[in-house]
Amino acid sequence: MTEGGYTIVPYTIAYANELVADPIYFEWHAHEYRLTYGKPRRGDWVNGILRARVRDWRNRPDRRGPERMRKLNTARQWRCMDRLLCQVCGGPATDRETGRIPWALTKTVFERTGPDSGRTNAPPSCLSCIPKAMEQCPMLRDDFTFYTVASTTSAGVLSDLYDHGICDRPILAKHNVFVAWDAVRYHAYALAVAQVVELHGMKSL
Ligand SMILES: [Zn+2]
Repeated sequence: MTEGGYTIVPYTIAYANELVADPIYFEWHAHEYRLTYGKPRRGDWVNGILRARVRDWRNRPDRRGPERMRKLNTARQWRCMDRLLCQVCGGPATDRETGRIPWALTKTVFERTGPDSGRTNAPPSCLSCIPKAMEQCPMLRDDFTFYTVASTTSAGVLSDLYDHGICDRPILAKHNVFVAWDAVRYHAYALAVAQVVELHGMKSL
């Protein structure tokens, strides 16, 4: 994105040096195999699902390297969902006047679950960033619906699902699969790349 000739890098986009290539393995844990990093750390798992590691150096221009427009920073996407932050500027997305949360959604990131509810892995956008996002993001421009949302709940993760290969090596089986927090049988095989939330009280504009 550009503004006044400067590139705007959306808050959720990863920079080159934030990407982490630590290998994952299957390990025997609590009577089943599960995915793990070679040297596990506290915070690698969220509700029993391994989360993709990434650094968060958005405020360290000296270290972060160039942006990678097609790569998501999982840590910042997660924070956007937890705290309802704008995916473009990283500020609070909730409209102070109405208390509702603006949300621009394309078909590819949205699954309807009821007349006024649905699931998405795309964080909200604040009102002042929506025109910028529309102008610059070809996917949004071509096919989007603009909603406001009353509230959200965490639904699960968007993940890569792995099969257990020889020597405990994981083999990627499916990419971008939604795994709900209560779909416990898949948790050990999933590497979470984004948090999915359920939107409630949706109104389209
Ligand atoms: Zn914003």
